[in-house]
Amino acid sequence: MSEDDDERPARPSWRLSPHCFYCSAQLVKAEGGADRRHNVRTRDHINPRARGGPDAAYNLVAACLLCNTLKETTQPMVYWRFALDHVAPYRHDLGRLRAHLLHVRGRRMARVVERFMVDRPASLDAAE
Ligand SMILES: [Zn+2]
Repeated sequence: MSEDDDERPARPSWRLSPHCFYCSAQLVKAEGGADRRHNVRTRDHINPRARGGPDAAYNLVAACLLCNTLKETTQPMVYWRFALDHVAPYRHDLGRLRAHLLHVRGRRMARVVERFMVDRPASLDAAE
């Protein structure tokens, strides 16, 4: 039995996928500029390496740098659901995304968003 006999639909390599697996953002190359850094294409382990996820192609997807950073070691389906509900609707405006995540998840996630903001607000870090 060759690989062509496999009934599973083929998923493009993470290098070729134009969109983030989690939030569907259009991905850009690293040279995209500071204002688009959150959209930079990264390789993400669906099942995180920290949870024993392998380095195999079936466990790799393209993710935007923002999702890859927010996801950390969260279970993939849990993060996927979270990204659809809480990241995708706001990510076009990082200030709004930061405010939203601060409201629903607290300062740790809001700080992740701050790292991608060109005009970075000082309030959260100043509070420490
Ligand atoms: Zn994403």
